Amino acid sequence: MKYKFENPIHGSIANTKYQCRIEWRNGSFIADEPETNGGKDEGPDPFTLLLSSLTSCTLITLRMYIDRKGWDIDRIAVNTNLYQEIKDGETITIIDRDLQFLSNITDEQKVKLHEIASQCPVSKILEGNIKVRTFVWKDNPEAKTIHYSNENITVDWKPELCQHSTRCWTQLLQVFDPRQKKWINIDGASAERIKEQVDKCPSGALLFHYNQEKEEAD
Ligand code: SF4
Repeated sequence: MKYKFENPIHGSIANTKYQCRIEWRNGSFIADEPETNGGKDEGPDPFTLLLSSLTSCTLITLRMYIDRKGWDIDRIAVNTNLYQEIKDGETITIIDRDLQFLSNITDEQKVKLHEIASQCPVSKILEGNIKVRTFVWKDNPEAKTIHYSNENITVDWKPELCQHSTRCWTQLLQVFDPRQKKWINIDGASAERIKEQVDKCPSGALLFHYNQEKEEAD
């Protein structure tokens, strides 16, 4: 399993209603709620962000295709909006996407670009098989702990906290191999690489420390 992004999209919120700081690879921005929902409207709300993702993906996909074809099509605009309705107790979300080509283009080009827009990567995500997994980091000093050490580092493993994300063994099998009886091979990668992987454990089941730091703390 390899994530799309090396670092996850990180968001945090404090007590100011409802300002969320969203950090991405090249900066950060504020997401908020409109005043009608108790926010200050200082940034896009979650539904706007969702539609912005589809809008920008559509535009970029079309631009890439048009440029590859060498077509002389200058400005393209996309409007997206959504509505929801309940049918048989189930919420159905309908997203409408309107394409506008603000230059002269042929009907054949329109047909092809309509098809290309429908296949942009975010469209495929929204219309495909999608699942959201949610993990909660827990800190339980009382949980049974198994230590895996070499002369420099220790990885603590708390089996009862594991939430089976599969991140550890799908991303660093030479260290975390559930097929082995001693499933953590502490010498299977550099200390830095093992620390990086342990820090990605979403549950608190894996903890890392340098032995020297621990000795000094004790
Ligand atoms: S990364 Fe953590 S929660 Fe996920 S399988 Fe490994 S130990 Fe369990």
